[in-house]
Amino acid sequence: MAPPQLEIDTSGKFPELRRGVRQLCDHFPGTYWQRLDAERGYPVEFVTAMTESGFLAALIPEEYGGGGASIAEASVILEEVNRSGGNAGVCHAQMYIMGALVRHGSAEQKERWLPPLAEGRLRLQAFGVTEPNAGSDTTRIQTRAERDGDEYVISGQKIWTSRAQHSDLMLLLARTTPLEKVKKRTAGLSLFLVDLRNASGQELTIRPLETMINHHTTEVFFEGLRVPAENRIGEEGKGFRYILDGMNAERILIAAESIGDGGWFVERAVDYANQRIVFDRPIGQNQGVQFPIAQAYANLRAADLMRWQAARLFDGKRPCGAEANMAKMLAADAAWEAANVCLQTHGGFGFAREHDVERKFREAKLYQIAPVSNNLVLSYLAQHVLGLPRSY
Ligand SMILES: Cc1cc2nc3c(=O)[nH]c(=O)nc-3n(C[C@H](O)[C@H](O)[C@H](O)COP(=O)(O)OP(=O)(O)OC[C@H]3O[C@@H](n4cnc5c(N)ncnc54)[C@H](O)[C@@H]3O)c2cc1C
Repeated sequence: MAPPQLEIDTSGKFPELRRGVRQLCDHFPGTYWQRLDAERGYPVEFVTAMTESGFLAALIPEEYGGGGASIAEASVILEEVNRSGGNAGVCHAQMYIMGALVRHGSAEQKERWLPPLAEGRLRLQAFGVTEPNAGSDTTRIQTRAERDGDEYVISGQKIWTSRAQHSDLMLLLARTTPLEKVKKRTAGLSLFLVDLRNASGQELTIRPLETMINHHTTEVFFEGLRVPAENRIGEEGKGFRYILDGMNAERILIAAESIGDGGWFVERAVDYANQRIVFDRPIGQNQGVQFPIAQAYANLRAADLMRWQAARLFDGKRPCGAEANMAKMLAADAAWEAANVCLQTHGGFGFAREHDVERKFREAKLYQIAPVSNNLVLSYLAQHVLGLPRSY
């Protein structure tokens, strides 16, 4: 695949890193992703290449064998995957889940888990938070973890636990103190590293969920699964705070993926609008075709500025909740608009699998909903930034 020509990047930073990721992605062209999409297959070769190149260990500190990268650099890695026409969603969790272990794990836990993760001998790709009866209200999750000697016994159900069948470990949020017994709804939740390799079929059942994209997402049922207490991350009851801590990183990384998607859509739209001749002229000569593409490009660049501002604050260890949330929302919206414009520009050919547009269109939609829906971002801004009454 030819390297992207269209300038989207608003930072001018990390050109070598970008080049390195692009070179890797060149080995995984649209036909690769089309085949997997049709077969609902997991991109083992791509994830292996990302692991072996060290890209997936970017956020692991160097002392544990990782890249010790900034969030800005990590975001460029995921952006370039999506910019190439691929889908970083197949492995991005390894990057943002890692933060919980790096920031809140004990020295023993880090020593035990981080080096094999950095080397690619272990996969940490599954994050079990969402439940069918709680939805966006995470404090209402019902999965319980009850202490029994040196172990916790886990019972309950998760939904949308992506890549659980392609991961050795799962980061799991469960209630250790019932909601009625805590003073604050956010208290009494704890975070565990669950070793999926040791779990038997009876205590742990994973059922794939068919979705409109190839996302390898599942429902997970726990029936008395025993997890060693030493696998609890941080203090009991503080899991929600640890998850919140990781959310800014997650938002910035997802924003970058959407920026990558948007760049791909705009570039494809421009190429097609220049080539496709109807009524004896390129369709891109019509303002009705070129203005929406130009608008999508402008929106994308504006969203990218917010992504860089959020990354700068994060890497400077400054508060960035508002910026990280805005970056995720603006980038997801900009990518979705670019997706729509790209498909529209392609006319009927936008529906043909071989152009990749319909696949990327389906994939880009996800980030307006997950990992947090844009409405919840607006609620956050309204309440915490603007001082409006809490709406939920
Ligand atoms: C493909 C896919 C992969 C996923 N992977 C994972 C994963 O790996 N791990 C994981 O834990 N979760 C995962 N999720 C779950 C995802 O994070 C949730 O779908 C998302 O947070 C929204 O929750 P919900 O689907 O329960 O929607 P709900 O909370 O039921 O909301 C439904 C709609 O109502 C709106 N809404 C709800 N409350 C309010 C309110 N107070 N104000 C305004 N609007 C509101 C929302 O914006 C949304 O549009 C995944 C989801 C999908 C689809």
